[in-house]
Amino acid sequence: MTETEILSIFKKSSALLTGHFLLTSGRHSDRYFQCAKVLQYPEYTEILCKMIADNFRKFEIDTVIAPAMGGLVVGQEVARQLNKRFIFAEREDKKLSLRRGFALDENEKVLVCEDVVTTGGSVFETIEIVKSNSAKVVGVGFIVDRSNGKVDFKYPQLSTLKMEVVSYLPDECPLCIEDIELVKPGSRKIK
Ligand SMILES: [Zn+2]
Repeated sequence: MTETEILSIFKKSSALLTGHFLLTSGRHSDRYFQCAKVLQYPEYTEILCKMIADNFRKFEIDTVIAPAMGGLVVGQEVARQLNKRFIFAEREDKKLSLRRGFALDENEKVLVCEDVVTTGGSVFETIEIVKSNSAKVVGVGFIVDRSNGKVDFKYPQLSTLKMEVVSYLPDECPLCIEDIELVKPGSRKIK
């Protein structure tokens, strides 16, 4: 898969919109990205997760783990393709933990999966869960890297797409100057 082919999947599923958007940070951007939109479609999920699965196929893996919610679909599909066990961590009192009787054995080899990485916070927390159970992280696979190349998990890592985030302060936004309609994604038009 080339970057162009992957981008076309995101555009076809409306996961990646171009226009003039108000981000939750208050900044403006010409692009808006919602990974869940592409993962609506099993055929796209399968294609993207195959890149992750193929990359880690040569590693010895016992279990795939993902942080809820974003990582669930990716972790499940990567685990399915590798025919490995899948478990997830979820937040309880703001802290990620293993619930529902999920457990990791000592020295169990674990692949961490996620949908989107910006600061990598949830993935770092999941890595800590693996280590605190004396299991071993073998790598980290995720769909989109939005960290502008900054995130380094210190394990073999693979993203299917690196997406640079360009945003502007409202006062400095070139799209405002062009008088392009400003849209708040997921809600009504605001201007
Ligand atoms: Zn603007």
